Amino acid sequence: DDLLLDVRNVCVDYYAANGAVHAVRDVNLTLKRGEILGLAGESGCGKSTLAFAIARLLRPPAEITGGEVLYYPRPHTDRKGSMVQQNRRGRNSPQEDVIDVLSLSPSQLRQFRWNELSVVFQSAMNALNPVMTVGTQIIDAIKAHRPDMGPDACRKRALELLELVGIAGDRIRSYPHELSGGMRQRAVIAIALALNPEVIIMDEPTTALDVVVQREILELISNLCKEFNTALIFITHDLSLLLELSDRLAIMYAGKMIEKATSADVYKHPRHPYSYGLLNSFPTLHGPRRKMVGIPGSPPDLRVVSSGCPFAARCPMAFEPCRSVTPVLGPATSDNQEQLVACHLYNPTYAQKLPGAQEFA
Ligand code: SF4
Ligand code: MG
Repeated sequence: DDLLLDVRNVCVDYYAANGAVHAVRDVNLTLKRGEILGLAGESGCGKSTLAFAIARLLRPPAEITGGEVLYYPRPHTDRKGSMVQQNRRGRNSPQEDVIDVLSLSPSQLRQFRWNELSVVFQSAMNALNPVMTVGTQIIDAIKAHRPDMGPDACRKRALELLELVGIAGDRIRSYPHELSGGMRQRAVIAIALALNPEVIIMDEPTTALDVVVQREILELISNLCKEFNTALIFITHDLSLLLELSDRLAIMYAGKMIEKATSADVYKHPRHPYSYGLLNSFPTLHGPRRKMVGIPGSPPDLRVVSSGCPFAARCPMAFEPCRSVTPVLGPATSDNQEQLVACHLYNPTYAQKLPGAQEFA
């Protein structure tokens, strides 16, 4: 079908002098071709670490300690045919046309990045080389992966990319410091698109920009992804941004996935109490929603592996099983198998014992 990425049971640890920090804990995630997936959570929840793991960009002391990242290349492609051939687990059925990202060799990885997957980081200023013109940087990115393309073709493609991201062609000779923050971010997006990848990962790409520019960049990103059927994993702590931009949402807390659903479902009914918190409005069991500023308290120590819900200490809804039994992701309601939540409020075993659970659910 349309499956592009299948992240299975991925775990990432950071090794520190005082013990391993379990930054990503047994996370599952899928991404369809052309889909915009929002990855949300407070800073330190593991969202960037997960994205870096998917892109194989983690460096020691971080280490992927378990799981799989499976990538399904475009069927019947010839543009990346050689790489796909090398990495097939078998060649007898279409299901076997899958790349195991975590076992790619360094040279295969270089091909995978940019051609199949590219990454846009938080700071456009740091992503660009200050002593090279924007044009040179785009052309270098193309040349590095398409040695067959001559200088004229590269320059033509660079101009095409600048136009796509709304930068005037004469800016091809500009240095990063001659561009505004928004323009620099557009240039970085142009580089990410240079090789026409199947998926782009963006880690808080607009946080440094003012609100109006942020909105323009988000519109640009979403239009470009639709135009080229490029899948996007967009990471931010700002859930309201994601509700507009993304088709589907994945919300993390303390290294775990705690809610996965379509953006429409999260907007209508955020199910996990933490998702409510991110949306700045906690429900009370009876009575109207009251506004909250942030979520009081801080996440648990990620060195400790303990049972119980990781959100229990901060959760206004915590009840009897929360401190002893670890909730697992499951459907929030029986009529929507697409909205998954890791919270005992939706576990029939516990929820029926909780007065008011119906109103909450
Ligand atoms: Fe709150 Fe309990 Fe649900 Fe955790 S499992 S989010 S503590 S109600
Ligand atoms: Mg981060």
